[in-house]
Amino acid sequence: MFGQNPVRRQQFSEDGSLWVQEVFYTLQGEGPFSGQPAVFVRLAGCNLRCFWCDTEFESSDWTPSLEALLDRVDTHLTPTCDLVVLTGGEPLRQDIRPLVGALLGRGLRVQIETAGTLWLDLPDDPRLTIVCSPKTGRLNVELAPRIDAYKYVIAANEVADDDGLPTRSTQARGKATRIARPPAGAKVYVMPRDDQDPRANRENTLATAAVALRFGYTMTVQLHKLADLR
Ligand code: SF4
Repeated sequence: MFGQNPVRRQQFSEDGSLWVQEVFYTLQGEGPFSGQPAVFVRLAGCNLRCFWCDTEFESSDWTPSLEALLDRVDTHLTPTCDLVVLTGGEPLRQDIRPLVGALLGRGLRVQIETAGTLWLDLPDDPRLTIVCSPKTGRLNVELAPRIDAYKYVIAANEVADDDGLPTRSTQARGKATRIARPPAGAKVYVMPRDDQDPRANRENTLATAAVALRFGYTMTVQLHKLADLR
């Protein structure tokens, strides 16, 4: 969207339907389940507007019921895949609790990818993993204790000397901001920002490797892009 998306607040539909951009089967390219086959459910709309965001999450007019969405997920699941990733946009912007409950009830693992500003009362289940990629200075206080792993997008010359994490705003290019930090001992993944420019991306990759080596983070790359997957 490259900073062009409307900023949408958290909003629940009256009939329980969800606004969904797309459902697809791919390899999880980032974070703790990197490399694993997964069915992705991309929820539409976001409450933030990151200037480098290259994800399309506004162009769908599909608002399935829970049953219709589960049917669609079923068409993509394979006998060896037990992972469903709920992403966006911002998936916590809509009421995904029934969806999460239904997926867990089927014995599936569920990963939620969030920017960390919103919260829903989600079940405390070991098969539910919440991965937060902070984009703002503060995280939702109810969400924070439930975060299983943190993911940071790294750009060259935009990392703090004390922890190797970003020093610039995600919402306004070039603006200095200290986005939310992980608590001590948290699992942290770092990945290079995709600036749509080979030379800049190379610098971002080298910077990401450097902070991983220096601070003990796990480097992850968007391997779905390397493999020409969605
Ligand atoms: S929070 Fe995520 S989905 Fe939303 S604009 Fe930022 S990068 Fe894109």
